[in-house]
Amino acid sequence: MPPYDADEIADQSLDSSNQQDGIAYVCASCAAAIDASEWHPVVARSDDVPTVFLFCGASCRREWLGHGGADE
Ligand SMILES: [Zn+2]
Repeated sequence: MPPYDADEIADQSLDSSNQQDGIAYVCASCAAAIDASEWHPVVARSDDVPTVFLFCGASCRREWLGHGGADE
């Protein structure tokens, strides 16, 4: 079972074009497919609604955050 509530996953991290298993997760930065059963970096934001961005690796997460987010 995916560790996330699909309602909270950012559009950038959802691939609705691949419906074979329902919802596919992709990297919010480079759009690479993510295996939800394996660990991967995430960023959670709660501006208006809770939103979770998924990343295929730490470098993508860092690059994405570099566009304006403070981290660590
Ligand atoms: Zn990536």
